[in-house]
Amino acid sequence: MTESDAKTFLFEKNPKPLAASEREALLENPGFGRVFTDHMVTIRYSEGRGWQDGRIEARRAFDLDPATVVFHYAQEIFEGMKAYRLPDGGAALFRPDANARRFRNSALRLAMAPLPEEMFVESVRELVRVDRDWIPTADGAALYLRPFMISTEVLLGVKPSSDYIYCVIASSVGSYFKGGAPAVTLWVSENYTRAAPGGTGEAKCGGNYAASLAAQAEATREGCEQVIFLDAVERRYVEELGGMNVFFVFDDGSLQTPPLTGTILPGITRDSLITLARDLGLTVREEPYAIDRWEADAKSGRLTEAFACGTAAVVTPIGKVKGRKYNFTIGSGGAGQVTGKLKAALLDIQNGRAPDPHGWVDRLF
Ligand SMILES: *Cc1c(COP(=O)(O)O)cnc(C)c1O
Repeated sequence: MTESDAKTFLFEKNPKPLAASEREALLENPGFGRVFTDHMVTIRYSEGRGWQDGRIEARRAFDLDPATVVFHYAQEIFEGMKAYRLPDGGAALFRPDANARRFRNSALRLAMAPLPEEMFVESVRELVRVDRDWIPTADGAALYLRPFMISTEVLLGVKPSSDYIYCVIASSVGSYFKGGAPAVTLWVSENYTRAAPGGTGEAKCGGNYAASLAAQAEATREGCEQVIFLDAVERRYVEELGGMNVFFVFDDGSLQTPPLTGTILPGITRDSLITLARDLGLTVREEPYAIDRWEADAKSGRLTEAFACGTAAVVTPIGKVKGRKYNFTIGSGGAGQVTGKLKAALLDIQNGRAPDPHGWVDRLF
């Protein structure tokens, strides 16, 4: 299979798809990441032969040798994106080309074989078309797509794997937070950092998540919903949450978000919100923001809102910040106006309720 025939996937229909009545029962209240569709995509890579054997088939378990590289050295990357229902019953992806590019960059950082971007986009499009009945229709609901790649060479020696499986699975999801996003309380991680200069912070790899879980568990123990990480060098500048980027809103109407210097995951939601904020006439700075500054600005009222953003939860207001040395409230402690406006602007484009001036919506049917 070459890049030119990336659109060819062998299709083997699931002989035992879930009955429509059972599927509809699951779609009533799907939660997040526990309801899976009938099919999956796989494409295999081996050194010398390249990407081949692209197929869409019944979702099933992998049969892997216990000495498979991914189990030992964590050569694994993934993406997260959604297919949205459109008002006329159609469906669309949002900026799939951006996910494809980031997936390629993640692969290169983890010394994995990069999947051609066109193949990535086509694989996701095809899976959504095949499993279209699994796209929920409720407000805020979507079909969450999880493309990922694992190293599959059987070897305990340490080197980049010669073989890979790329796979896409899909999960019907409800609104991440039921009943609209409540403001979350963040725990400032002083014991742990997420990513250091030269590390894998800007790659979307499972290893980054594994490294963040102890910090997230600490946040939970402290009664906070999410952890927020500081930079690994000075332990001073705010970087991001475990799986979401962060924005600050000031009383002059301007916004600020930490710059992409290699330790922060380049979120597509982050990038889209920067563009939408500028479309609304707001100033957006990509500049470092120190945690002490954040506290002082929140206390003085110069900072009026803060929010986290990512594909899964879209835009989540930050109400409070706690830490060994910190305890402050942002604005009223609830969802702010600018936050709400930006969230609505993004959701309206994604769900086809507003014009799409930047060509972000990729209609599938
Ligand atoms: C995926 C991810 C984000 C958000 O990226 P989106 O493209 O907006 O979904 C932010 N931070 C981390 C660590 C992530 O893994």
